[in-house]
Amino acid sequence: MAFDVVVIGAGLAGCAAAARAAGEGARVAMVASGLGRLFHLGGGSLDVLAVRAARPVRRPLAEVAALATSEPEHPYAILGLEAVRRGLALIAEIAAREGYPFSGAAPADGAGLPPDQPNLWLPTALGGWRAAFLAPASMVGAAWAGTDAWPLGREVLVAGFQGYGDFSPELLARGIRHSARAQARSVWLDVPGVAGASLAGGLSAPYLGRYFDRPGAVAGLAGEVGGRLGRSEVVIFPALLGLERSVAAHSQLEALLGRPVAEVPALPPSLPGLRLWRAIRRYLAARGVRFYLGATAAAAEPAAGGRATTAAGGRLASIRVRGVSREVELRAGAFVLATGGIGGGGIALSPGPPPGGPVAREAVLGLRLSEAGAPHLPVNHRLQPPGPGGEPAWANLFAAGSILCGHDLAVEGSASGIAAASGCRAGELALDVL
Ligand SMILES: Cc1cc2nc3c(=O)[nH]c(=O)nc-3n(C[C@H](O)[C@H](O)[C@H](O)COP(=O)(O)OP(=O)(O)OC[C@H]3O[C@@H](n4cnc5c(N)ncnc54)[C@H](O)[C@@H]3O)c2cc1C
Repeated sequence: MAFDVVVIGAGLAGCAAAARAAGEGARVAMVASGLGRLFHLGGGSLDVLAVRAARPVRRPLAEVAALATSEPEHPYAILGLEAVRRGLALIAEIAAREGYPFSGAAPADGAGLPPDQPNLWLPTALGGWRAAFLAPASMVGAAWAGTDAWPLGREVLVAGFQGYGDFSPELLARGIRHSARAQARSVWLDVPGVAGASLAGGLSAPYLGRYFDRPGAVAGLAGEVGGRLGRSEVVIFPALLGLERSVAAHSQLEALLGRPVAEVPALPPSLPGLRLWRAIRRYLAARGVRFYLGATAAAAEPAAGGRATTAAGGRLASIRVRGVSREVELRAGAFVLATGGIGGGGIALSPGPPPGGPVAREAVLGLRLSEAGAPHLPVNHRLQPPGPGGEPAWANLFAAGSILCGHDLAVEGSASGIAAASGCRAGELALDVL
């Protein structure tokens, strides 16, 4: 099978690469062994930079610009501010087009996001706060500017669902009272018509999401909570209000309750993440992207004249993809490796001989990993991983997302910004070499 671009990985980075290339008319295939982490584990927001030097970041794009001089190896420094703005704008535009808009997102003229756009501070299900750069519109009713009490003098009602144990309204209400100094009360609601047998095994997030997609379900919920609103000015629910129809469900609930409603992500699986994945997948499918999901990319062939191992200047001709029942070879003019590092499966760890620790290996092509710090893939300014002599391993291979070196995702809260920006840039670079 022949394509212009084969993207390995269906996380945010792979999606951005596929969207960028397919948006220009390229024939794109996407190969992935599983869902990206943002889509089943993530909180549904896009985080660019939450913390630098142990301090919360207020204006992430301004910090991204500063990184170019202070940390030249950081992916944001390699990419540059404009690529970061384009990548975020691309994802926000896809989400908006597919009916799942992010608040404060890019203008439709493709100009990217304003460099002084601030972080939002959103409550977490555990009663803490996290910084998000772009968040689904249904979440921003609970946003805090992070500078003062939240929301000043307001009364808040936090509702949980009987039978759904992955979200405790008491915990969240306590967190809000404690850190944002608002009046927060908690209630447990019955899901109308879902008592009895369904509760015995507990309700799952996907079940509830589909339940609230049904006609009449939101009106039933409004009836259930209506008598318990008291003087609350905002009502917070776990992010379960619909899977396919969540935007309509959220506005209908606000209209019926006559006040802002905000969703807070519960424990995984993440419905906001799944909503975003469905939106992106629809967008990609409409642009002809061919999906090989549940399939593992395992080996590569060099182009004619290239060598079987990584060789300077060689071009990669194909990868082999193993699905459940068969193996296929996908040929392409360019490849994007967006396999997510250790957490995503793109870097495999195996036990090493004593006394050393585990041995890390880039799982698809056997590329050389960085030796400093946690194992990651080094790249040059064109997102090309190096071969043995330091030149690009393959002229037509680009890497993106959290497999890249030079940053600490867990500490700085930058995973989605790096994934969107480097994925989009890798898609552009792939188009350049076709
Ligand atoms: C618990 C948790 C919560 C998070 N919450 C948020 C959040 O709220 N906001 C936020 O911005 N970020 C969040 N993140 C970070 C974010 O989800 C990701 O780290 C980021 O989006 C990285 O995306 P990626 O595309 O680089 O990799 P991943 O999302 O890891 O995707 C890697 C892809 O590659 C595929 N793959 C790997 N190896 C192979 C192979 N050999 N063959 C085929 N396919 C392969 C995987 O199946 C997957 O599809 C969270 C992360 C975690 C773990």
